[in-house]
Amino acid sequence: LIEFRNITKKFNDVTIFENFNFSVKENEIVTIIGASGSGKSTLLRILMTLETIDEGEVYINNTPMWHEEKDGKKRKASPKYLREVRKNFGMVFQHFNLFPHMSVLRNVTEAPVYSLGLSKQEAKKRAKDLLCLVGLEDKMDEYPANLSGGQKQRVAIARALAMRPKVLLLDEITSALDPELVGEVLDIIRNLAQKHKQTMLLVTHEMAFAREISDRICFFDKGKFVEEGTPEEIFENPKEERTKEFLHRYL
Ligand code: ATP
Ligand code: MG
Repeated sequence: LIEFRNITKKFNDVTIFENFNFSVKENEIVTIIGASGSGKSTLLRILMTLETIDEGEVYINNTPMWHEEKDGKKRKASPKYLREVRKNFGMVFQHFNLFPHMSVLRNVTEAPVYSLGLSKQEAKKRAKDLLCLVGLEDKMDEYPANLSGGQKQRVAIARALAMRPKVLLLDEITSALDPELVGEVLDIIRNLAQKHKQTMLLVTHEMAFAREISDRICFFDKGKFVEEGTPEEIFENPKEERTKEFLHRYL
């Protein structure tokens, strides 16, 4: 479903990844773990077309996201094409990023109406179903400022799902939450993983949670996957010294 082929990404002169390869299959739940600044968010942002790449190609459903010109330079595809690409993904960020001037319901209906062309009525029905799924049916008319962090994050998840994305991208969605609110957000994700078989690519520091829901764990360090494998392989029997050191700090 997603394939990174020989990706090189630089910020100015700093190389974040070089010849990086990675793929995610349909219905797979992949968790990326790794130190701060290693490039985990950049990886997800490339998929959302929020970052460009310098070399290589990213394929979504075997269709390239960027085009290489004859002179060998990477060109971004047209904005229209990138909007289409982005519809494959729903992203939830660490800091919620809800629209503060819109009600909860409107936060969830906005993109389906404007990007997918759903009627307001259809979008509302879809939003209500999703807000029930995340346990916020009684908060539809509230504004984000009146919600707890966990509730905001549940709205953000509903909003991402309202686009029916092929892949849900979750970037440290619990790291800004008070510890007692983490569980309610992880419960939603667990439910999506187990009951709804939603394809997901997530970055998290919640190791116990990653272990429970992931099909595959990738340990990312200094622009490379140092090691990847099933949760059992990574948590019980890591082979690389760097993986062991990293896990030691979390377990
Ligand atoms: P964290 O766990 O702290 O969220 P991360 O693994 O998500 O870290 P990234 O946010 O992907 O890391 O950043 C990777 C590196 O790229 C960092 O060194 C960061 O400073 C750098 N970087 C990220 N965005 C930019 C940018 N827009 N311009 C320049 N450098 C950037
Ligand atoms: Mg990050």
